[in-house]
Amino acid sequence: MSNLGLHAIYKLLNSYSEVVCERAFWERENRAEPLPPLSLESQRPLSDFAVLAFSINYELDYFNVVQILRASGIPLYAADRDERHPLIIAGGPCIIANPLPLSPFFDCLCIGEAEAILPAMLPVLTEGIGGKRNKLLKELASLPGIYVPLTHSGTPVIRQWASNLDDFPVASTTLTSDTELGDLYLIEVERGCNRGCRFCLTNNAFRPMRYRSI
Ligand code: SF4
Repeated sequence: MSNLGLHAIYKLLNSYSEVVCERAFWERENRAEPLPPLSLESQRPLSDFAVLAFSINYELDYFNVVQILRASGIPLYAADRDERHPLIIAGGPCIIANPLPLSPFFDCLCIGEAEAILPAMLPVLTEGIGGKRNKLLKELASLPGIYVPLTHSGTPVIRQWASNLDDFPVASTTLTSDTELGDLYLIEVERGCNRGCRFCLTNNAFRPMRYRSI
């Protein structure tokens, strides 16, 4: 919970009346067969949920995705899942920059910022999550900023971004001693960076740089 982006998504998802968003964290354990991870709020196994949404911020998270799915008893590959399993989605800087390494594992990948993608995505999910998975994937693939590896036609997916940050206040939703920066109240004052360093995800995944009004 030291990542302010996670606070923002958690608050944004729970602001929709038709959504209940819980959190789950992966903890490394010294055992050959790790215990299935449970959601923090209701202590339910992840396989109980309709949708699992991963925030991928670092390349090393890739390995954790596989371990979480495996420990939860969920088939690893999108091609092996159907409507009996949670829909597995992901977003975050690594997905925006290059979704291909993880594409076999995910049903859909969000190319851009959640504030710009969720308003079109959530009604489709709400309507289609209980139906046939193939139909849901086709509908998701037609939305801006959504990459569905199983049905992708090759047409480039355009990255989506929030044009006015003032519409989406971002600050800490939880203060906890269980994380770094947990006793600080974090506020997003700007997004992106215009320094232009070629190696930097912030520069490339969150263009253009935007400020909030004071
Ligand atoms: S490394 Fe990234 S965040 Fe830092 S100055 Fe360069 S572009 Fe900006």
